[in-house]
Amino acid sequence: MPLDIVPSVCPHDCPSACALEVERFDGRRIGRVRGAAGQSYTRGVVCAKVARYAERQHHPARLSRPLRRVGEKGIGEAAFMPISWDDALDEVAEKLTRAAQRHGSETVWPYYYAGTMGLVQRDGINRLRHAMRYSREHLSICSMLSDAGWLAGVGTKRGVDGREIAKSDLIVVWGGNPVSTQVNLMTHVAAARKERGAKLVVVDPYRTATAEQADSHLATLPGTDGALACAVMHVLFKEEFADRDSMARYADDPDGLEAHLATRDPAWAARITGLSEDEILGFARLYGRTKRSYIRVGYGFSRSRNGAAQLFAVTCLPAVTGAWAYEGGGALYSNLGLVALDLTLIEGLDRLDPATRILDQSRIGPVLTGDRRDLGDGPPVTALFIQNTNPMVVAPESALVHRGFARSDLFVCIHEQFMTETAAMADIVLPATTFLEHDDIYPAGAHTYLQIGRAVLGPYAECRSNHDVICGLAERLGARHPGFAMSAIELIDRTLRMSGLPNVESFSQGGWLDCCPPFETSHFLDGFAHADGKFHFRADWAAIGPHHAQLPVYPDHFAIIDAGDAEQPFRLIAAPSRSFLNTSFNNTPSSIAREGRPTALVHPEVLAELGLRDGDRLRIGNRRGSVVVHARGFDGLQVRVVIVEGLWPNHAFEEGIGINLLTSADPGLPRGGAVFHDTSVWLSPA
Ligand code: SF4
Repeated sequence: MPLDIVPSVCPHDCPSACALEVERFDGRRIGRVRGAAGQSYTRGVVCAKVARYAERQHHPARLSRPLRRVGEKGIGEAAFMPISWDDALDEVAEKLTRAAQRHGSETVWPYYYAGTMGLVQRDGINRLRHAMRYSREHLSICSMLSDAGWLAGVGTKRGVDGREIAKSDLIVVWGGNPVSTQVNLMTHVAAARKERGAKLVVVDPYRTATAEQADSHLATLPGTDGALACAVMHVLFKEEFADRDSMARYADDPDGLEAHLATRDPAWAARITGLSEDEILGFARLYGRTKRSYIRVGYGFSRSRNGAAQLFAVTCLPAVTGAWAYEGGGALYSNLGLVALDLTLIEGLDRLDPATRILDQSRIGPVLTGDRRDLGDGPPVTALFIQNTNPMVVAPESALVHRGFARSDLFVCIHEQFMTETAAMADIVLPATTFLEHDDIYPAGAHTYLQIGRAVLGPYAECRSNHDVICGLAERLGARHPGFAMSAIELIDRTLRMSGLPNVESFSQGGWLDCCPPFETSHFLDGFAHADGKFHFRADWAAIGPHHAQLPVYPDHFAIIDAGDAEQPFRLIAAPSRSFLNTSFNNTPSSIAREGRPTALVHPEVLAELGLRDGDRLRIGNRRGSVVVHARGFDGLQVRVVIVEGLWPNHAFEEGIGINLLTSADPGLPRGGAVFHDTSVWLSPA
């Protein structure tokens, strides 16, 4: 069988955005997927789930043709009949039009997220939204809190190039688990350890696969990272590790910060975090005496009501020691703000009506069940058009989400690759291409490349790309915008030109363009991105979000978390597993085989108190409901912490509803954001 190797880019919701080399047979099937050796961040490495992408690409359950539901909601394919594309798109357009005629255009909510990170196939839905004046979407489910925390101090969403990790003497992975979720980072950590004897410290509530490889692991109580960061800075000032010259030049208020931290000593932080004073002191001294110290800031500890304040506190550390000035020093949260792309054409920003209402994607449960705090004076949502997400599993407060989707007056069209739990609730299901079957452009969180991935296979069966479906609907709805008349690659090329970047042909053979800024810029030696050019120890939360009144101005422990009580004494973290990515890959055989079944990691002392042993059934619950999982004794966490990795499908749980039954749709401060890791629970034998 003729075999060739073709370049591509991983589209999944992961900072690494790996450059890929794909084995292709006969132009129709793929074999192994490898990391591109020539892209200097990927360096030939990809995660196991994408290496085995053939399982997903050629999965027997891929949706192959448009479907109309004729049976009950929630059953799956047995409740659907095939229809033609023309009939499907005509029906969707008619339903959206009728809904808008009855309730006004804001009754339609195009709903999407990051099933692909490609800008054309992910964000093109906004062009249809703006052209039709449909309700807008507050993108709060992933990076809203972390962005807010980073922006408060640094002022822009970029940091030191991840490749510099290889030049570091100390790498701190704070609130992330790259061994499981962005394996490429570990390539650069391994280089620093091998060539420089660098130390690796992991801050995470449980002993993850990354923490197992670390020299030191600080297992904080969830929601207390801000206290740890403050105590570290207290020690940095007290023991003269603080670089006062650097702060005088690059920071806004070092004296105010030092005075504020005077009472935030290791004993104070030990009481809050559950760490020992020695652990905190040891880490602070190691960080203080290592100038080439690099903090890789993860998302985990931002998924909390106080997440923005927590992340802000951590960003202050390199500004205190002056680590930004050193090669291999500083911090990175995300480089998604590095390249200023003009998205007017892709997203139809020139048609955006700022008067249209904005609905919070994390609060889809309250929205669909008519919560006036979300709907305001506007109409109910009576029509959803969904791409790239599976809210029946991934959105918090699942009970409300399920109740909302069950409404008989709600029309739902979804464009998907598989019959997900959300697709099973839809009226019309449209089959979608994978990234191997369409063109797109990908920025990255972890590195500095802009990459173009071209289709390497024809569409499977009758599948169509997100862009094609948006254009087909636009035509039927009478939506006008030049972007609807362009191909995906034309949109990409025009967007590059509008952004002052080289055109598509200028990208290298593998499809990447390195946008790494000069050292002075990436290390902020030519100024941070606030008007005064300084790093801000005093956060101007009012400039970031409307709900800022309670937020502490200086870095602090912000005690607004769901800390638990006598009834719900445990703290649950619904962490990402290695083999799933949100709900992508949770239906591929090798991923399921590796992950086993929904399992809670519980401290052995707690397990014994409950009279349970490894493998026993455990019920986890709170005021929102309860789920049954299997328990596993695990001593890599504090006794009050419980971990359930996922995201498993709802049907993997005994009662048909997954872990997000327990998580809250409360918005984090100051501008919303999902709080998936801020959940108190009780435990009992099932
Ligand atoms: S590590 Fe992330 S970007 Fe790389 S292949 Fe895996 S999911 Fe894709």
